[in-house]
Amino acid sequence: MKACRLSLATAAAAFSDEEKKMAAEKASGESEEGSLALTVEERETLGGLDSRLFGFLNIREDGARMKTLLGKAVHCYESLILKAEGKVESDFFCQLGHFNLLLEDYSKALSAYQKYYSLQADYWKNAAFLYGLGLVYFYYNAFHWAIKAFQDVLYVDPSFCRAKEIHLRLGLMFKVNTDYESSLKHFQLALIDCNPCTLSSAEIQFHIAHLYETQRKYHSAKEAYEQLLKTENLPAQVKATVLQQLGWMHHTMDLAGDKTTKESYAIQYLQKSLEADPNSGQSWYFLGRCYSSIGKVQDAFISYRQSIDKSEASADTWCSIGVLYQQQNQPMDALQAYICAVQLDHGHAAAWMDLGTLYESCNQPQDAIKCYLNATRSKTCSSASTLAARIKFLQNGSDNWNSGQTISLHPVQQQAHSWGLTPQKLQHLEQLRANKDNLNPAQRLMLEQLENQFVLMEQRGLHKGQSSHLAGPNDEQPLFPTGSTQYHQAACTSSQNQNGHHTLPRNSVPQGDALNHLSSYIATSGGQKGITFTKESKPSRNRSLGSESSRHAGDTSNSCAGIKELPNHVHQVTTVAISSLNHGESVSPNLIIADNPQLSALLIGKANDNVDTGTCGKVNNTHPVIHTKTDNSVASSPSSVISTATPSPKSTEPTSTHSVTSLNSPHSGLHTINGEGLENSQSSTKVDLPVVNHKSSPQIIPSMSVSIYSSSTEVLKACRNLGKNGLSNSHILLDKCPPPRPPASPYPPLPKEKLNPPTPSIYLENKRDAFFPPLHQFCTNPKNPVTVIRGLAGALKLDLGLFSTKTLVEANNEHVVEVRTQLLQPADENWDPTGTKKIWRYESNRSHTTIAKYAQYQASSFQESLREENERKTQIKDYSDNESTSSDNSGRRRKGPFKTIKFGTNIDLSDNKKWKLQLHELTKLPAFVRVVSAGNLLSHVGHTIVGMNTVQLYMKVPGSRTPGHQENNNFCSVNINIGPGDCEWFVVPEDYWGVLNEFCEKNNLNFLMSSWWPNLEDLYEANVPVYRFIQRPGDLVWINAGTVHWVQAIGWCNNIAWNVGPLTACQYKLAVERYEWNKLKNVKSIVPMVHLSWNMARNIKVSDPKLFEMMKYCLLKILKQCQTLREALVAAGKEVLWHGRTKNEPAHYCSVCEVEVFNLLFVTNESNSQKTYIVHCQDCARKTSGNLENFVVLEQYKMEDLMQVYDQFTLAPSLTSSSS
Ligand SMILES: [Zn+2]
Repeated sequence: MKACRLSLATAAAAFSDEEKKMAAEKASGESEEGSLALTVEERETLGGLDSRLFGFLNIREDGARMKTLLGKAVHCYESLILKAEGKVESDFFCQLGHFNLLLEDYSKALSAYQKYYSLQADYWKNAAFLYGLGLVYFYYNAFHWAIKAFQDVLYVDPSFCRAKEIHLRLGLMFKVNTDYESSLKHFQLALIDCNPCTLSSAEIQFHIAHLYETQRKYHSAKEAYEQLLKTENLPAQVKATVLQQLGWMHHTMDLAGDKTTKESYAIQYLQKSLEADPNSGQSWYFLGRCYSSIGKVQDAFISYRQSIDKSEASADTWCSIGVLYQQQNQPMDALQAYICAVQLDHGHAAAWMDLGTLYESCNQPQDAIKCYLNATRSKTCSSASTLAARIKFLQNGSDNWNSGQTISLHPVQQQAHSWGLTPQKLQHLEQLRANKDNLNPAQRLMLEQLENQFVLMEQRGLHKGQSSHLAGPNDEQPLFPTGSTQYHQAACTSSQNQNGHHTLPRNSVPQGDALNHLSSYIATSGGQKGITFTKESKPSRNRSLGSESSRHAGDTSNSCAGIKELPNHVHQVTTVAISSLNHGESVSPNLIIADNPQLSALLIGKANDNVDTGTCGKVNNTHPVIHTKTDNSVASSPSSVISTATPSPKSTEPTSTHSVTSLNSPHSGLHTINGEGLENSQSSTKVDLPVVNHKSSPQIIPSMSVSIYSSSTEVLKACRNLGKNGLSNSHILLDKCPPPRPPASPYPPLPKEKLNPPTPSIYLENKRDAFFPPLHQFCTNPKNPVTVIRGLAGALKLDLGLFSTKTLVEANNEHVVEVRTQLLQPADENWDPTGTKKIWRYESNRSHTTIAKYAQYQASSFQESLREENERKTQIKDYSDNESTSSDNSGRRRKGPFKTIKFGTNIDLSDNKKWKLQLHELTKLPAFVRVVSAGNLLSHVGHTIVGMNTVQLYMKVPGSRTPGHQENNNFCSVNINIGPGDCEWFVVPEDYWGVLNEFCEKNNLNFLMSSWWPNLEDLYEANVPVYRFIQRPGDLVWINAGTVHWVQAIGWCNNIAWNVGPLTACQYKLAVERYEWNKLKNVKSIVPMVHLSWNMARNIKVSDPKLFEMMKYCLLKILKQCQTLREALVAAGKEVLWHGRTKNEPAHYCSVCEVEVFNLLFVTNESNSQKTYIVHCQDCARKTSGNLENFVVLEQYKMEDLMQVYDQFTLAPSLTSSSS
């Protein structure tokens, strides 16, 4: 195969050089017309182009020429591939991918990249490829894959020149995915980088402020917005948007004083926003809402009117207008406005609900029921259960209603469907008309039907469009103060505009525009979309993201004012985001990418070449706001996340799966030529996607050209030569490691009957048992993910009373306790806060208190429960028989509302003076579980890592939960239950962490950082074994390296816990693997493994050859890095200052990205002279100061010293079993 492949160089040259052309023709068979030839100059230009230029390519005068050239190049490459029957070098496809990307032809870029991926085993070394692929996935909203590709880029090349762009986009994607912590981190990393990217720093700051708002940290948000307003030369658009956010926040939140005060603030902000951008329909809309809420009806109408004039038709606005009418007792006008709203957005739950209440108020329960049903069907419906109850009530009671006396509001359903055409249908019709000549029979039939309907509509004088039906069946004139027809017309025309936009080919817009729009999108209606895209941002505007219902909170409650039973569909909105996480439904209409009909069609599952009638009905369901993107060209920029991305957490996941899989179907020319290679992607499971394929590779010792058994001098010499031979200076790593990947689910899957294995338990009777050496071996054996050592405290006569709440209060009553406020969940289940469905997300709020106060809480909780117990006993006996039957109704029945409990956690017992007795008692333990011992890696770190090599205490009431996790850097952990109550544990072996990681991703959770509580049913389905056991007082639980676990208290109890690192190959391997995984995921490794490895080499004799090899390899790699970096700095004229180390000096981390920094510390001049020594890693230093002029480099170890340690670290002769 390889032999007959044409190389990229030959191929590219072939078009200009006659001789080589002949050769190419020979290779490929047939001759091609000469018009395709690329000149030498052109080839040179093209040679310098790849994905890194995306968004930066000749924005100015040169744009058109460049486009032509790229188009020509694509044509050349494609015909060459065709001639060579696909047998060309893989680089060829990569380059073709880049060209298509630069031309914004994303589907062709994707197929070319995928071809490259399938041909090139070490594709991961190619940062430009990964970056291009990430951009394409980003464009398609396949965030899951985009995130992976971008993280891979930064992993293989931390100094990648578009790192800033990557961080920006990661920030945006994590924001959409509701992983706010990661989002903030990436925005901050983007912000410190002084390189250019597609958003200005003011815009990035805006996103950070909005991130706070999204997280309901309103005061931080307000502060950040106000800070931003102080920026000099703040672009008007950003200013307008900031003011708009502030205004809306003041309206919705209690940020300042009473209602009058806050509304007046809100109105002021919004007016100022309109000064900065008078054309913002959104600001006008908000202003209308503010006026409406303080009863300034005329002003409200005027503002809404402005909003409709300034922006595209919005279901929100119409819904609010309806509310206003309803308040003015103008039900007919309210009706029309609501209908307009649901016409624009059939899934507008709030409008359906409002319409329902309107019908109810007019004694038309049957119509109300229909509306409520529509509302419950909507994905944005936040109060399905309340509605269901209401529907039931109406159904039962409706006999008593006398519908004869109602005003003649027509049933909505009928109206929407028998009158006129919906905007969706109109659009559909237009598309069918446009494609008249290429329709299949079914499509032709559809066209006929629609034409007939259209004619009918025109005959009725409704040709103005779908909204004209609003004139109402009885021809009652609306009482809209400013003339409703105009409004309706506005709604109508704007949706026609939408269509116009919709059909514009994306790449007809020059790239320069794309960039201009980047900076201005905030100003336009796109801005609003952009900024708010998650449901969680609910109280603020959630444009385009389908959360209108939540935004309508205020309105709906208003509208309900006169109607008794249904006031609170509003209050549950806050739970939407959480509860909607588990919706595994198919693509919601909201997901569909508005400016790319073709893709939209694909997303729905059809891989047609054109916007195809069969699918556009669905496409058109897209929320209108999405359709009305002001400019198509923005789509591939970050701002498009904004306009195209869907807001809701649930949505992104299905999108990614769908989009990518359906994109893989052969719809582009390339595929038909290179038929094979894409089979992988046909399956709908994620694992099949390119970037994520488990092309597994040894994580610690990749093949390398340098032996770890050579002396340090030889090694370094060899490395130096290597450096000269190949890689560019910017790469410190000479041999790159592939990015780490989570393990695939172990194969073959366990049979179902083995999914509840018995927990390895050891019963101790006396002290001798506890010190029996095989106990240590048993616990650290990788086959035992967990070991329960029963009766340990008794056997050792440990005085656990020292850790009882009473003693703790006596010892240090003012000591700090971290409090987690949690929902008390039924036994082993985890429900969303409304109790509607089981979810993985398990959030809890953090606060702080003291031991004394928590003790009080713990005691009163106990007493309260005693009292309740007594009350229950005195009540009817048969009721109280069995509480645990609650698990019987696990499936359907609604749970909740849940009681709130407080869990006292992470109480730091490291202070030897404060906790002398307690800590001393623990020295009675066998060495392998002791907090400090020679055989414990964490005792070799040389400094305190709070909670890891020190003791932490937990104070619990029943239901207190420690969510699922692996320990920091996969270290082992020791946990002793002090009692008096029990704890229940759930444990999953290490090799299944990849499966759990995937579940977390599916649920939009960060495996490493979020709080999650696995759904046992999911695990069972996925053949994941779960060990489950009760830890009684005095039992010690040993969690082996990498074991995933989660714990809940059954009774009132305290626990103590810490980590240990047994000196085994398995522990070291898992710790290093997690260290790398953390790096990929931008999470800090709490255990500084580089620092620790050197300390181990100095202090420990290693006799296990496997452990020795791994350590030696790591040392070698670091040695090499130190040398390379040092020499590069010196060569660049940068002085390296000797700094040395103090005794027990902690390991260093980059203050920006939190990666461990070893030996060479980059410290700002300022920080150096102040002796604060704030450390940066090299990459972060270069991002803030390209030539490092603002930094000094401090050196902590002499090369000779490191070399000596390296050389002296040798394999020790085998010892008889260690233990203690
Ligand atoms: Zn850094």
